[in-house]
Amino acid sequence: MGEGVQMGLKATFRSFLWFFLPGGLLFCLGLAFALVARLQPLVPGIAAIAPYAVLAVATLLGWRFNRSRLVYGVAVLFLADLFLAGFPVVTSASGSTGRNVLNCLATLLPLNLAVIFLFRERGLVTARGLWRLALLALQPLAVFLVFRHRPDLLPRLLAWQPEWLPLPAALPLAQVPVLAFLATLVLFLGMALTRRRVLDYGFIWALAAAFTALLPWQNPRHATLFFAVAGLILVISAVEEAYAMAFKDELTGLPGRRALNEDLLKLGGRYTVAMVDIDFFKKFNDKYGHDVGDQVLRMVATTLARVTGGGRAYRYGGEEFTILFPGKALDDALPHLESLRQTIQAAGFTLRGQGRPSKKPKKTRSASKEGKRVGITVSIGAAAPRDRQEKQPQVIKAADKALYQAKKRGRNQVAG
Ligand code: GH3
Ligand code: MG
Ligand code: MG
Repeated sequence: MGEGVQMGLKATFRSFLWFFLPGGLLFCLGLAFALVARLQPLVPGIAAIAPYAVLAVATLLGWRFNRSRLVYGVAVLFLADLFLAGFPVVTSASGSTGRNVLNCLATLLPLNLAVIFLFRERGLVTARGLWRLALLALQPLAVFLVFRHRPDLLPRLLAWQPEWLPLPAALPLAQVPVLAFLATLVLFLGMALTRRRVLDYGFIWALAAAFTALLPWQNPRHATLFFAVAGLILVISAVEEAYAMAFKDELTGLPGRRALNEDLLKLGGRYTVAMVDIDFFKKFNDKYGHDVGDQVLRMVATTLARVTGGGRAYRYGGEEFTILFPGKALDDALPHLESLRQTIQAAGFTLRGQGRPSKKPKKTRSASKEGKRVGITVSIGAAAPRDRQEKQPQVIKAADKALYQAKKRGRNQVAG
């Protein structure tokens, strides 16, 4: 198998794991408790405690780490569960008030999750945050009032069946709530694909668990179980996202210095370390500005992230990057570094323009630079431990020394 194909498969598997963990796993656990006969007796116990535990943990985390999306998401799930537990409507006959109430709830739930998903993080205990909480709490009241004064209105709305969407006739819910769930799912998937954030993935699985909670379970405790699972998915995804953020460099998206230090601890006796430094970057910044410099950093980082030969790239700091090749001797790593150097040199960097409107259209010097291609090169120094005694800081120092050599010999080259 070619290395490219292998790397592609590996990357696909890694993306899948990122998507599946932890949300998918928790969802499957919930299904196991609901469906496996030996686990079912545990459900009432879980349902008695889990919703409160999840709400308490989410509130604490959200308050301490300023994660309002987490708190509102869990609050919506908690309220839906409370509401359903108060009105055992799931198994009532179709067309009855119970069914209508359930369908209202099932429509409002995904729409609320969608709105919360789109929230910008603005803190929890702010005037805006309290408004949002009040809006949440007012919805059941609104539904109640509408039922009271216009009893025919909501059933009529809920009976709407779009012809352009041939959903199966035997659905556990009316078509309107199913549509609301589907639309929310499309929104979540679209955003998750563009942003690739763990909490976004969590919202997808939480939506799946919330839908499962609304299925006509024989035992109403199962609904509580799945609402709690949905909340737990959000909590764990938020924790995981915070953890991932600590290891990631914000500007480039590469793993940062902390990740490098952790991975250094995992290395065995054989490895290669490379230090990469952009050439004349100070001049570049002075000439084109810091923002354009940042774009170059991102572009270089994207190329380095695609390093072949089992290497992994990190942002060491500033315009310096590190590449680790676990289990690889220096001579085996050098061709992969040389190929990185060539790729970066060949790509160059095209200044903003190319038909995209610049932020401040000015007919000055910068306009004439638009679309101009400027050369970017890097120098790379690599080193590997010469014997088992040589410690990592010494190897990194040796790589730094090699980088210095590469610079001294005229830059845009690899030294090892
Ligand atoms: P050399 O070829 O010897 O490496 O020359 P150089 O100008 O690149 O020298 P040096 O490595 O010392 O320059 C580091 C410069 O990188 C200083 C600073 O302007 C720039 N820089 C460091 N971090 C950042 C950053 O996050 N964004 C931007 N835009 N520039 C940065
Ligand atoms: Mg430097
Ligand atoms: Mg430099």
